[in-house]
Amino acid sequence: MNQTPHIAILPSPGISHLIPFVELAKRLILHHDLHVTCIIPCTPNEPSDATKSVLESLPKPNSRTIFLPPVSFDDLPDDANPSRKISHTMTHSLPSIHHVLKSLVSSTSTTSSPPVVALFLDPFAIGALDIAKELDIPTYVFFPTNAMALSLIFYLPKLDEIAASYDFMRDLPEPVKLPGCPPFHGGDLFASIQDRRTDTYKKTVQISKLIVSAERIKGFILNSFVDIEAKVIKALQEEKTIYPVGPIVQTGPPRQDDGDSECLTWLDKQPRGSVLYVSFGSGGTLSYEQMTELAFGLEMSGHRFIWVVRRPNNEFPNAAFLNHGPKNPLEPLEYLPNGFLERKGQGLVVHNWAPQTRVLGHISTGGFLSHCGWSSTLESILHGVPIIAWPLFAEQKMNAVLLVENLKVALRPKADGEDGIIRREEVASVVKALMEGTSEKGRIVRHSIKQLKDSVVKALNEDGSSTRALSELASTLKNMATK
Ligand code: UDP
Repeated sequence: MNQTPHIAILPSPGISHLIPFVELAKRLILHHDLHVTCIIPCTPNEPSDATKSVLESLPKPNSRTIFLPPVSFDDLPDDANPSRKISHTMTHSLPSIHHVLKSLVSSTSTTSSPPVVALFLDPFAIGALDIAKELDIPTYVFFPTNAMALSLIFYLPKLDEIAASYDFMRDLPEPVKLPGCPPFHGGDLFASIQDRRTDTYKKTVQISKLIVSAERIKGFILNSFVDIEAKVIKALQEEKTIYPVGPIVQTGPPRQDDGDSECLTWLDKQPRGSVLYVSFGSGGTLSYEQMTELAFGLEMSGHRFIWVVRRPNNEFPNAAFLNHGPKNPLEPLEYLPNGFLERKGQGLVVHNWAPQTRVLGHISTGGFLSHCGWSSTLESILHGVPIIAWPLFAEQKMNAVLLVENLKVALRPKADGEDGIIRREEVASVVKALMEGTSEKGRIVRHSIKQLKDSVVKALNEDGSSTRALSELASTLKNMATK
């Protein structure tokens, strides 16, 4: 009988969770000889070229992809936010997930792959737990983000009680203290739990209760590593089985959807460490006013930059499912200030998408103005690039607190007054502080990122903490396959 362990992975829709899931799968296939089936829930526009190209990077023949039928957004209001779209897609995909998993557990040794021994779920796919229970499939949750976020998920049912008399988390009178984490101001917690009156809030609390109480979850796999979150990982390990296997970031040859290599050719011509890379992840957007201030601020700083621009949006800071993915050369750049494109002598503007890991790994890149998405954060640390923290949504404000206050690898510009806009003067000043390292804070950040990069290299060594955690997970899966 074929004893290769076969696992199924179920990410939630969207490229930013798909990338770490696929990268985790690659490591399990290449280093631990596992067989992986990717079950991919689809929104109306999926599978996009970007999604297909990420999945095509999986090694063959030990991997297979099954696209679920696309879920229509027709019954959602036009202004539904991305969290709601994700949750809608997952809920409506459950019957097809059931169908696929049922066929995967009943595969026999006569079929090309052995039966699945475990299911790796995205936290947004937690609704599939009941199916796993019915089919008796041991389940792991892969958290593409960090230990702090998992800690908040565990704490949320209690926080819900503590915050019972407030509509907004930002109004909590005391900082929230999660075990092993820096204290968080209520306004810095996940964006999805800020307004307690919304369906998104209720759904997040519901997911959190399911995760806390699910006995079927055998363990939590984190895209983090011990040195970056030692205390919180230790606190979590006292309660649950935790595998900190990160950083799991994009590797391998360039993907087709990375766009042309204009950025890289341009970077080749710039002095070492001279370029600030500015990007807000796969879907992050700014308001029109903020975009204008950022444009002028970059210009005023006098530093070289690559800016991945995306059409501004005054409603949502996250345009995922609207326009993520590779660049669309037809979209106009009219939203940049008049004359900016002609004047931007020291900068390069790229539309919508850049080959980020290659930009961060380029010798000319010396700083990253980032929305602090967790994958972007890990990619920056891995390449030793200091950060300007500009969080927008999801758990990004918590990440910014970790980066600025605990790890001291990022500077955070201050917003001016009530409107939350970061003005051009502040942008210019923080860019100069980071790129020139002339201020005390700038020097500390540039020094600390080098140290953190060394600790990542250690974690990923043959005997490093993340390598060991992944091997431990793989052996557990192999044991399941031989039972
Ligand atoms: N990314 C990229 N090019 C871009 C923007 C994003 O390759 O122009 C990749 C980036 O390298 C990272 C992922 O998309 O792997 C974004 O994930 P992150 O968690 O940073 O942010 P999110 O997209 O979830 O907001």
